[in-house]
Amino acid sequence: MKNSRGSLVRPHPLPESASRPVVTPLSPSVVYASDTPDALDAQYEGRVHGYTYSREGHPNADVVAARLDGMEGVAGGVVTGSGMAAVSAVLLGLLKAGDHVIGGNQLYGRSLRMMKEDLPRLDIATSLADPGDVKAVEAAIRPETKLILVEAVSNPTLRVADIDGLAKLAKDRGILLAVDNTFTTPRAFRPFEHGADIVIHSITKLLAGHSDVMLGWVAAKDPALAQRLRVFSVTAGLTASPFDCWLAERGMLTFDLRFERAQATAAALADHLATLPGVKRVIYPMRADHPDHTRAAALLQGQGCNMVSFELKGGREAANAFTRAAEGLSFAPTLGDVGTTLSHPASSSHRALTPEERAALGLSEGFFRVSVGLEEPKALLAIFAEAVAAAVPGA
Ligand SMILES: *Cc1c(COP(=O)(O)O)cnc(C)c1O
Repeated sequence: MKNSRGSLVRPHPLPESASRPVVTPLSPSVVYASDTPDALDAQYEGRVHGYTYSREGHPNADVVAARLDGMEGVAGGVVTGSGMAAVSAVLLGLLKAGDHVIGGNQLYGRSLRMMKEDLPRLDIATSLADPGDVKAVEAAIRPETKLILVEAVSNPTLRVADIDGLAKLAKDRGILLAVDNTFTTPRAFRPFEHGADIVIHSITKLLAGHSDVMLGWVAAKDPALAQRLRVFSVTAGLTASPFDCWLAERGMLTFDLRFERAQATAAALADHLATLPGVKRVIYPMRADHPDHTRAAALLQGQGCNMVSFELKGGREAANAFTRAAEGLSFAPTLGDVGTTLSHPASSSHRALTPEERAALGLSEGFFRVSVGLEEPKALLAIFAEAVAAAVPGA
């Protein structure tokens, strides 16, 4: 490290290497130094590319964004500090007082909360409708409706939205269609190819895949809209930290392999659960007994998903016995981890609902959502068989 004055705090220049690292370097620098005001002008005027301040962009975010942009077939996606930051960028960055937005009635819990609690406070009206029923969504449209936000596969009942129908409706009526593609991932579903205007991801889940980083992404097909999302994300401080991006990139390198394995095991687990006497019903979109099976087969390009839901016979007592007996599986409220995780909507994601509201969604005390991980499939199926037998003895 040579510099002309040994007393400088920042070493300059950095060590040189004729060879390059194979792994993306971590760039935690908050600021980037320019040579001259003229050089800075060139950067701000877009004549040369350069970073200035990391809230506005940094190499690690750009590497993750480029990877997801490629997977979703779009340009200019923005990496955000969490999936909810991406949802916020869309709802708070594009809507204004007096607008109306329609959300899917089974959106992710925090997205629902933003629709119900936060947008009305800002004088943005909201309605919820079943995204599998285009007529119901159409009936909710008002003259001031600006946006429809849905998920392709809903949590936790794994209903499949009629994205093609919604895209046509939105286009006909001049409304933006935003799709949260977290559950399906671009491996199973590419919303832009089905007419979505905006796509959102929680990278936290399957894409990063190791439950050690929170990150999101949002992109729009229209460059002007993409620019509005980017500017708002930077202004509101929704953008992501370099280290989180660096970790996420590392996880995303193996995403394809993890997804293939997890969805194959999920399909096997769904079929296995259906044979167990202690199980009342199994919900998996690729099974012929799923209510949206035909749509799922068409939409998901023959891919499944790693999520399986099922209902135990018996109530809370059986549910407690099941999580106790499910050795090695985390009873934890996330999805997409390398390890299989269990979620119990009645005591977690849907606990704020009344028992009647839960019943209307089919969420009994025996209802579990499984995010299938990378365990050896046979061993995993055996763990479930044992835990179900322990939870519902004599079934
Ligand atoms: C988890 C999740 C989010 C929120 O993502 P975070 O990274 O936890 O903020 C949004 N949508 C869906 C469908 C999710 O599963």
